Amino acid sequence: MKTIILKKFKDKLARNKNPWIFSGAVHSAEKGIVNGEAVKVLDSDKRFVAYGFYSEHSAIALRLFSWDEEETFGADIFRKRLSCALAARKRLIDAGRTDSFRLLYGEADGLPGYVADIYNGHISLQVNTASAVHYLPMMKDALIDTVSPLSIYARPADELAKKEMIRWQEQCIHGETPDSIIIKENGLKISASLKSGQKTGYYFDQRENRRIAAEYAEGQDVLDCFCYTGGFSLNAAAKGAKHITSVDSSADALANLKENFRLNGFDTPETVKADIFDYLRERNADSVKHDMVILDPPKLAKSQSAVEQALRAYKDLNMLGLKKVKNNGIFFSFSCSGRVSREDFIKSIAWAAKDAGRTLRITGFLSQSGDHPINPFFPESEYLKGITGIVE
Ligand code: SAH
Repeated sequence: MKTIILKKFKDKLARNKNPWIFSGAVHSAEKGIVNGEAVKVLDSDKRFVAYGFYSEHSAIALRLFSWDEEETFGADIFRKRLSCALAARKRLIDAGRTDSFRLLYGEADGLPGYVADIYNGHISLQVNTASAVHYLPMMKDALIDTVSPLSIYARPADELAKKEMIRWQEQCIHGETPDSIIIKENGLKISASLKSGQKTGYYFDQRENRRIAAEYAEGQDVLDCFCYTGGFSLNAAAKGAKHITSVDSSADALANLKENFRLNGFDTPETVKADIFDYLRERNADSVKHDMVILDPPKLAKSQSAVEQALRAYKDLNMLGLKKVKNNGIFFSFSCSGRVSREDFIKSIAWAAKDAGRTLRITGFLSQSGDHPINPFFPESEYLKGITGIVE
């Protein structure tokens, strides 16, 4: 295996099991390393630090996957990481109520570059890095050995073209992936598309928060903003919500949401295709308010330079949303921007409440579901943050 030597003192974070090493920390790389290849990482005194995957073009030059010098690189590592990830999911997920979940969450599960979601026996595999493309045949075999999937559909993450400079077409790499798959989450049926849906097809990270929100839904008038295919709306309907308004800018998502309501035998909610900011601004002129308002926007900060702007957007959005909550109503608000800290997110909500002229009492802090684990030495693995509270 070829080696990469780090600059003096640049091994510190890596020794604490932080899996990312930025290109500025690299002193020298052995000649002939192929983009994406597994390498041995040494400190400035040539002592072993870890094994990692090398990315030639990304600012994240190395993604570490092993700190054990004895662990030889090969198919076994892929199988070992996947078996370990699967065993953890089995402890976490109630298989009677949920048949679909995140099997592998990249760095946080010790296998950088891949995200693998299981959809009722089919796998949606996100390919994020040069190494993920390079070792795809090994990953495919390991997935087949460990979970015997019906099919594997591989999709490139946006970063692959933008940050790793790799053009790679999505493709079915095993079996046959149907256009849509009926999955089960919290006992509800959901039709998901691995090929045309957003991200890997559905958002498993909100499973637990949907369940928590639904606990308040009985007899309530619920406004589900950024509803996508109805995750929160369906859970609220199952718990007896009186009226649901589901809003999203995507017509496909709303069509999928209606199908999901049909699949579960629920009455179709009121659906609105709109930009949420416009919708809430217009609606704030009228007096319609809801017992429960949920705000689950897409990632608003896509880069570090966009954080300030994103915080302003979170503030505006939350201000508009808070105005729509009835007195003593429940408010749920989320941010899935990894770059926005929990603290800053909460500050933006505090200012939003002030400007909305409402009092918000936060009653709970929310995070991503346990099948998206967080590596405590790698804060980047925590991206989903949420609050719930009572509004007056
Ligand atoms: N709450 C959903 C997931 C939301 S994902 C669930 O539980 O599954 C974010 C959603 O926001 C996507 O469906 C996307 O189509 C929608 N979206 C993005 N920008 C929007 C905007 N400005 N107005 C309305 N919807 C938007």
